[in-house]
Amino acid sequence: MNIQMQLCGLIIILLILYFYKRQETVGLYTEALFRRAAYICIGCLALDILSVIFIMGRSMLPDLLVRSECKLYLASLVGTGYAALTYACADAFGLMQVNRFIKKMGIATAAVSVIIFLLPVHIYHEGRTVYTYGPACVATYIGAVSLIIATLIYTAKRGTRMNPRRRRAIRTWMGIWLAAAVVQFFNSGMLLVGFASALGIVILFFELENPESNLDRGTGFFNARAFIDYVKFKYNNKNKGCCLIISLDNAHASDIRIEHMEDILAEVTEFIGRIPETKRFKTDEKEFLLAFESREQMERAYTIIGNRFQEEWLMGMENVTPVSLQPYYLLVPNAEVANSAEEMLGYIKYFRSHSLDNPDEHTIVIDADSVAKKRERDAMLTTIIQAMDEDRVEVFFQPIYATETRRFVSAEALVRIRREDGSIIPPGLFIPIAEETGLIVKLGERVFEKVCVFIKKYAPEQYGVEYIEINLSVVQCEAKSLAKCYSEIMDRYRINPAFINLEITESASILTRKTLLDNMRTLINYGVSFSLDDFGNGQSNLNYIVDMPVHIVKFDRDMTQAYFENEKAKYVLQAATDMIQGLGLKVVAEGVETAEQLQKLERLGIDYIQGYYFSKPIEQDRYIEFLKVKNAS
Ligand code: C2E
Ligand code: MG
Ligand code: MG
Repeated sequence: MNIQMQLCGLIIILLILYFYKRQETVGLYTEALFRRAAYICIGCLALDILSVIFIMGRSMLPDLLVRSECKLYLASLVGTGYAALTYACADAFGLMQVNRFIKKMGIATAAVSVIIFLLPVHIYHEGRTVYTYGPACVATYIGAVSLIIATLIYTAKRGTRMNPRRRRAIRTWMGIWLAAAVVQFFNSGMLLVGFASALGIVILFFELENPESNLDRGTGFFNARAFIDYVKFKYNNKNKGCCLIISLDNAHASDIRIEHMEDILAEVTEFIGRIPETKRFKTDEKEFLLAFESREQMERAYTIIGNRFQEEWLMGMENVTPVSLQPYYLLVPNAEVANSAEEMLGYIKYFRSHSLDNPDEHTIVIDADSVAKKRERDAMLTTIIQAMDEDRVEVFFQPIYATETRRFVSAEALVRIRREDGSIIPPGLFIPIAEETGLIVKLGERVFEKVCVFIKKYAPEQYGVEYIEINLSVVQCEAKSLAKCYSEIMDRYRINPAFINLEITESASILTRKTLLDNMRTLINYGVSFSLDDFGNGQSNLNYIVDMPVHIVKFDRDMTQAYFENEKAKYVLQAATDMIQGLGLKVVAEGVETAEQLQKLERLGIDYIQGYYFSKPIEQDRYIEFLKVKNAS
C-alpha cells in the first residue's frame, strides 16, 4: 500500500502536537489557528490513509462508502489549504478585516467541497498502487491550487505588514505544497500532497509556533518577544486589558550586592509565579511584566506585590543578610490610552526609560494624564527641531549692570524660540526637553554661534560691553568635544575669547565633573572665563566654588529675593558674598526688580546686578539701542 508517506506525516504532526500541548501558550489568535491547521492536517492524512485502505478492501465495502470517503479526503485537502490561508493572514491586518476575508474564502471552500461531492470520482487500483482521479480530483486541484495562489498573492500584497518570519514560513509551505501537487498530478501513484501538508505544519512549528521560543529560559515565564505578539493580539481583538511591570533595576535597588542578585531573582520569580489571574512575562534581565484581563485583577495583584516587597528578601539563606527591595512599578490600568499596539509599546518603552532617569519615582502610571504630557513633550520636540531647521531660534540679551562703574558692562544671552505666528516660547518650556533628548548640544552650539555673529556684527565693545555670558547645560559639559567645538566657532568668527563668559551649573556626578573640568581648562587656556550660575537654588555647595575655576558667581533669583524677605537668608547672602569676594571672585545678583532692592544690594557690595528693574531680556537690536542710551555718558 502506498501509505508510508501519509503515515510518516501523521506521526510527525502527532509528535509536534504532543510537544506543543505540554507547554503553556500565550493565548494568541495565531496559536488557535495553528492548532486548527494541525488538526485539519491530521484529519486530512487520516482520511488519505483510510481511503487507500477502503479502496484496497473495496470488494468487501459498499461502493458509495468508498467513494464518499475518497471525496471526504479530497474535500479535506481543500480544507487544509483554507487553514493555511487563514493562518497566513492572521497578523497582517485587524481581526475584523481578516474575519471578512476569511469568511469569503470559507464560503468558497465550502462551495468547492460541495462540488467535489457532486462530481464523480474514479478509482485506480493496480497491485499495491491505488489512487483516485477524474472530475472530483480536478475540482480538488483547482480549489487547492487557487487557495495556494490566493495565499501567495496575499503574502506578496500584504507582505510588508506581516511578520517576516511568518511570510517566509508560509511561502515555504505553499512552495512545497505546490511542488507536491504538480508531482502528484503527473504521477498519480505518488501520494505526496498529504505529506506536504504535514511538512507545512513542521515548518510553522519550528519557525513560529514553538511555544519554547516564547519562553524565558531562566524563569519559564513568557519572554519579551511573546509580550509584543500578545499586545498586538490584544489590540487586534479590541480586547485590551491592562498590565503591571515590576523592575528591580539597580537604580531602584542599589544596596543589593551583585552576587545576591541571582538568588533574589529566583525568589522573586517564585513569588510572581504564585500571583493569580495573570500571564507572566520576563521582559528584561531584572524586569517582570504581568498582564491582566481586568483592572480589578491588576489592582488586587498590585496590593499583594506591594505588601510582599515591603518585607525583606533572602530571609532563609545562610550567612546572608536579608535585603529590602524597592522595585519600581509601571502600571497600565487601561490599555485604551493607546490606539494601537505600536503606540502602547512605545509608551511602555518611553516611561520605562523615563523612570530610570528619575530613581525617586517608584510608581509610574501610564494613563490619560501621563500620555497627554508625553504627547505635549513630543510636540515640543518637533517644535524645537523645526525651529532649528527653519532658523527660528533666537537669542535675547538681558543687560548686566556693574555697581562700581554704574555701566552696563555685560549681558546674559538667553535663548528663545519664535513660533511661526511670531510669538515667543520661553526656554523654561523647551530647555528641559532638549536636555532630556540630547538636542541641547546642537541647540547650545546654535546659541553660541548666534552670539558670536552678534558680537561680530555689532561690536558691542564700542558701547562699553566687556563680555557676554552664555549658558551651558550640564549635558553639553558632558561632551568631550565641547571645548574644541566652541573654540572653532570663536575662530571662525574671529571673536576675542575674553569677550565670552560661559555659565555653568553644579553637576552632580564626579564623572561629568571630570569632563567638565577638562573642557573648562581647555577653554580657559584659550581665553574664555566662567561663571557659576544658579547659586543658592537649593543644591549649592560651597566647595564647588573653591574647586571650580570660575570668575563669577551668580546668585539665583530666589536667593536674591529671600535676602529682602527673610532675616536668616540675609545673613547667608552677606556671608556668601564676603566669602566669594574673599576668594577674589565677583558676584552677580539675578532677579532684581525694584530700585530699593538695587540700593540694598549696592550697599552690600554686590558687583553686578541683573534683573527686570533694568530690563527684561530683549532682542539684539533693542539691546544695542539700550546700550546707546544707558551707557552714553
Ligand atoms: P538663568 O540662566 O538663571 O537665567 C536667568 C533667568 O531669570 C532668565 O529667564 C531671566 O529672564 C530671568 N530673570 C532675570 N531677571 C529677572 C527678574 O528680575 N525677575 C524675574 N522674574 N525673572 C528674571 P529665562 O530667559 O526664561 O531663562 C530661564 C532659564 O533657561 C535660564 O536661567 C537658563 O537656565 C535657561 N536658559 C536660557 N537660555 C539658555 C541657553 O541658551 N542654554 C541653556 N543651556 N540654558 C538656557
Ligand atoms: Mg544663566
Ligand atoms: Mg541664573
